[in-house]
Amino acid sequence: MTRSPLRVLLAQLPVPNNPALNTPLAAGYLKAYAEAHGLGERVVIDILPRAIADDAGDAALAAEIVERAPDLLGLSLYTWNSERSLEVARRVRLRLPTMIVVVGGPEVQADNPWVLAHPAVSVAVIGEGEQIFAELLVWAETALPGIPFDRFKRAMCGEGQLPLRDLAVVPSPYLAGHLELPPDGMLMVEISRWCPYTCSFCLYGRNMGPRLGSRYFSLERVLAEVAWGRERGVRRIHFVEANLNLLPIFWPLMRALAELNADRQISFYAELRGEHLSAAAVAALDAANVRVVEVGLQTANPAALRATSRRTDLAKWAAGTRRLYAAGIEVFLDVILGLPEDDVAGVAATLTFIAGESLGPYDIFMLQGLPGTAVRREAAQRGMTFQDRPPYYVLGTDRLPYAELRRLRRELKLGAGIDPDAVEGVPGPRADALSGKRRATDDERYIRHLRIEGEFVAERSSFVDSLATHVDVILPAERLAQAAPLLAGWVAANPSTLFDVYLEVADEPPGADALRGWRAGLPYTPGYLDRAAVYAADQPAPAHVRVSPRLWLVLPWVVQVEPDDYAGVAGVIWRYELEAGQVPPLGAWRTAGGAGVALSFADGWDDVGRAAALANAEAWATEQGRRIFAVS
Ligand code: SF4
Repeated sequence: MTRSPLRVLLAQLPVPNNPALNTPLAAGYLKAYAEAHGLGERVVIDILPRAIADDAGDAALAAEIVERAPDLLGLSLYTWNSERSLEVARRVRLRLPTMIVVVGGPEVQADNPWVLAHPAVSVAVIGEGEQIFAELLVWAETALPGIPFDRFKRAMCGEGQLPLRDLAVVPSPYLAGHLELPPDGMLMVEISRWCPYTCSFCLYGRNMGPRLGSRYFSLERVLAEVAWGRERGVRRIHFVEANLNLLPIFWPLMRALAELNADRQISFYAELRGEHLSAAAVAALDAANVRVVEVGLQTANPAALRATSRRTDLAKWAAGTRRLYAAGIEVFLDVILGLPEDDVAGVAATLTFIAGESLGPYDIFMLQGLPGTAVRREAAQRGMTFQDRPPYYVLGTDRLPYAELRRLRRELKLGAGIDPDAVEGVPGPRADALSGKRRATDDERYIRHLRIEGEFVAERSSFVDSLATHVDVILPAERLAQAAPLLAGWVAANPSTLFDVYLEVADEPPGADALRGWRAGLPYTPGYLDRAAVYAADQPAPAHVRVSPRLWLVLPWVVQVEPDDYAGVAGVIWRYELEAGQVPPLGAWRTAGGAGVALSFADGWDDVGRAAALANAEAWATEQGRRIFAVS
């Protein structure tokens, strides 16, 4: 018995603080490959539109999938979306019990039991997905009806399967029209699936082997995708590629891009191998308008390099990287803390190397024990502990206990001019959250902003299925207790949504303990962002720190409050009205402390003066690590 056509829905959920990057490239490949292999007539494959995938809260997302009622839901799982995707799938399956859930992506590995054993998962695909997914569709087409779902539960496939020998068999999902244009005009273009290195903390190099073979797309194909984006006004292209300058098509590609992109409409982002950057290679990158590059580093400690099987010729790498700086190309230079065999002296040696070679700035990352990597397999032997769920941050090594890692992270972030209290991947508060004039924009399909006034509890509870992934809630501080059941309902239905709750204080602010108690009374299921925040805690257990809801006290400037009294529970925002012509009192704001200033302008300002005062205030805020919120 067959059901025809089989309905398939593919979805990829975004990085929480950067949904614009969420191009579902893998879904596009799966669809393009399946259709090129004759399945297009028998199977309807849809990719969840970005307007839904990138912005819908958990409840809205589940409702959208249920409405589409696919026979098979395919999910691309990455560290930043795996828990959320699987929880949403679990909820959908409660309403569509015969739906098959197929998961793939870097999170699906034989050593990642929480994914493989998740109740939402029917089939877990390990490794490259195109071939196995096409086979699965044939199987699902005939096997689905009449066979109890549990027969397929937690089947695992793909492990040991050989990767595609020749990428030419995968048509371009852009040219085939399967992918939408990204909202911010940034295109992801994959060039190869290969890295000859085998750094023990990285999944990418694993099993790719030293030989490239035909695991790269042709020059014509890459240029056709670039041209496709150019014709549609794309401004940025991110090459999905680990070592652009090692590819055999590097030189012809750079020459062709210099010609195709002579007006520099597009700026390119690429990952490069620093040791192989001759003056000519850097000139070619510059001519093509490659403006931002990543060259790695991670460590300059020889013991850590050896322990991670990372082959870096430091002197050659530094010389190549300096050429990039000289050409005015922006360089992302990363340092990883917590690597095997690294210690305080080793980290100091890395920083000394960066300074001595006149490199930098750099960013600090914490080691992740990613599924499928050697560093994860060697954890016990090296005395390393990692979080058991994403982002799998290191919680201690035999040379750097948690307290030391945390101290180093803070010190190095401060040294690099990075806010050590900012949690990686967490969206910042919106600058217009307090604006009375804020209006929903055309792309706001889901509710991002709620101002609660008057009687509200009953009617607002129905918003639960319409909330976005990041919601501002503004309410009078005295209504806090009354709002608790409402917020509890929203949070329970949308555990991944980041709620920013702004409490507008008329005169007397609530105490820190009252706020702490109120927040603790709301439902809480630790997720990705909470684990990303772990280093805010002075102990490694329980390996997560609650991020949402974030509380903000919005206070009249004249109220006497010490922001430090609210540390860890609420940020203080001062409401300040600038008189016409008044210079922003930056010194007084600095002394008052707090998270930022909600700035309004009294009558009498002209547009030019107002813009200048605002720019002055914003420059101060950036320098101070605070925020200016627009009030009107
Ligand atoms: S870290 Fe970079 S060089 Fe090392 S294996 Fe991964 S992709 Fe290759």
